[in-house]
Amino acid sequence: MDLSSLNPEQRAAVRHSEGPLLLLAGAGSGKTRVITFRIAHLVRVKKVPAEQILAMTFTNKAAREMKERVVELVGAKTAANMIISTFHSLGVRLLRQEIERLGYKRTFSILGTADQLRLIRDLLQERTDSGGRKPDAERVQWLISDAKNRLISPAAFAAANSDFNRTLAAQVYPLYQNALKAYNALDFDDILFLTIRLLREHPDLCARWQEQFAYVMVDEYQDTNLAQYELLRLLCARRRNLCVVGDDDQSIYGWRGAEPGNILEFERDYPGATVIKLEQNYRSSGNILATANAVIRHNGKRREKKLWSAAGAGEPLELLHCDDEEHEARTVVERIQGLRFRHNLAFRDFAILYRTNVQSRAFEEQLRYENVPYVLIGGQQFFDRKEVKDALAYLQVIANPLDEVNLLRILNYPKRGIGEQSAERLIEASARRKRPLWELLRRPEGLEEIGEKGLAAVAQFTTLLETYRGRFRHTVHLAETARELFAAVGLEQEIMRGADDPGKARRRLENLAEVINALAVYEEREAVPTLSGFLDKVTLLDRDDPSHGGKEEKLGRDAVVLMSLHSSKGLEFPHVFLVGLEEEFLPHRKSEGEGADVDEERRLLYVGITRARLTLTLLHAGQRRKFGKPQLRVPSRFIEELPVELVLRSDGAVRPAPTPAEEQATANSFFSGIKALLGD
Ligand code: ATP
Ligand code: MG
Repeated sequence: MDLSSLNPEQRAAVRHSEGPLLLLAGAGSGKTRVITFRIAHLVRVKKVPAEQILAMTFTNKAAREMKERVVELVGAKTAANMIISTFHSLGVRLLRQEIERLGYKRTFSILGTADQLRLIRDLLQERTDSGGRKPDAERVQWLISDAKNRLISPAAFAAANSDFNRTLAAQVYPLYQNALKAYNALDFDDILFLTIRLLREHPDLCARWQEQFAYVMVDEYQDTNLAQYELLRLLCARRRNLCVVGDDDQSIYGWRGAEPGNILEFERDYPGATVIKLEQNYRSSGNILATANAVIRHNGKRREKKLWSAAGAGEPLELLHCDDEEHEARTVVERIQGLRFRHNLAFRDFAILYRTNVQSRAFEEQLRYENVPYVLIGGQQFFDRKEVKDALAYLQVIANPLDEVNLLRILNYPKRGIGEQSAERLIEASARRKRPLWELLRRPEGLEEIGEKGLAAVAQFTTLLETYRGRFRHTVHLAETARELFAAVGLEQEIMRGADDPGKARRRLENLAEVINALAVYEEREAVPTLSGFLDKVTLLDRDDPSHGGKEEKLGRDAVVLMSLHSSKGLEFPHVFLVGLEEEFLPHRKSEGEGADVDEERRLLYVGITRARLTLTLLHAGQRRKFGKPQLRVPSRFIEELPVELVLRSDGAVRPAPTPAEEQATANSFFSGIKALLGD
């Protein structure tokens, strides 16, 4: 196999095949590239069967990109037999095989955050004693989630102190787990939590999977949390062929329980591990790299790394001060157009990175105004929109009728005469008779409470769903079947009835169509498409990775990319605009309890800077509107850490929005410019 496109350290890492290996190296040094070559080397040179390869990354997009690179090296057929996925996708795959051992059914559904919160709210209201104080459901949700990520079971989660919400969380956690189990549903954290339980409690399974995944590779290891760490430890305990790569300076998920200590202590956990460092950066110009190095040096606890670039110094970086968010957006879009025109670039060569998704609005408006194509990664929460959730709820209930959260969502949507009162009576009856709600609906004998009309409606509802369950089970044409289901249910009419203006109705109908499109795309990609397979993908997309199904499919288009700093990890772009360099954005003012960590925010800035290959422009605004009122903004404290000699500082060079006359003049001079270029 040709390894000549690697440097000696990279080659050594690729050739190392048995035993634990740690690759600790800075941004853009080829870590991900090493993983892909290493996979190819194992399969092609070491003749390891493809089924024994397991590679894990952090986001679905990163997983897909890694798979594409592996396909180039070993061919699609071989690559199809490997698992290259996120931790959670792996968990779901293993649970779908073996979850029955834990008393769940294999048709389990996965609840999104909003549903999870609703369930917790209900439980808080019903069964706990809050002594008249108002419980903070989101805080309780976070505490339970945090406990699961630390692998703490309901029984072990004792209220460690007298904190009000912690005490409530301790009460609710077991009730919540029971409710989930009754609904045959998991929350996002259960995916790893239960996979680990399987591995711990069933040695035969553990042994089988240890043999199956004989070679394990993990990208972005610095962002693993305790659950992920434990999963790896269990899977690799016997063969110890674990190769992890990462950069402690890019650890940005501390708020979600990631432990950068995992990477710093790898040698202790895996004695005899080979450690390889990579020091050459192949991505960024010298100036960009020097700026990144200067910024990250302000962090206390870190492993000092040398990182150099053979590329020249390149363009200086620019720091632009803008008046407000409008001005910031105009400046960025104008620069994109200028650079593109001068250097004949594609739109996809540009990325706009921000700390929080709300910042995207002004840019979207300006890009649309200027007719510049763009893709927005994450933020709009496609699958969180009401009409989308309604449609998906139908699919969820068809896949798993025990899922009462979704069942209640659609019971009277569209309205079919099972009002709230009837629904409550049904829930009560189901509790009284200790029968799942769905069972009750299918055989509602003796349920006079909901009246004859109600009974008829229930019968029609269950018959429809049962019919479609049968159809979905026996077809690979998921998109078409879903389209017919939505029509039979009358979702479109309901959307049109419910919207207060035609524009809104149209957008909602488009979103409904987008769900069907997402099914069609899934169907095309998958060898064996199934409804629950699709739903898994959607749910995991939702949480794992801030990018969202349908929209994301358009990534291939030539378009400017807008995304948060978190989702930009691992990616690279020729020209990057890092916007909103202000206090409260970066460092972000976090809600109390989740720990505002300035070092972590600095690492986030480091991640952002190191995405850029050729130019990097940093921007901040003097004021921004909040609830319609302008508010003064304080420049980020990190600005002072940017080396003065590498970063040009100036006011955003854009004038206020042009008048129509000025616009005409610009257009004229633009066309005469083109004519001049063409030699007219
Ligand atoms: P990050 O820390 O951002 O995840 P990384 O260490 O994973 O970065 P890669 O994405 O693997 O780095 O590589 C960065 C860029 O450098 C890619 O464009 C890659 O193709 C290129 N590259 C890596 N190694 C070499 C090499 N030996 N020769 C030429 N180009 C290389
Ligand atoms: Mg990488």
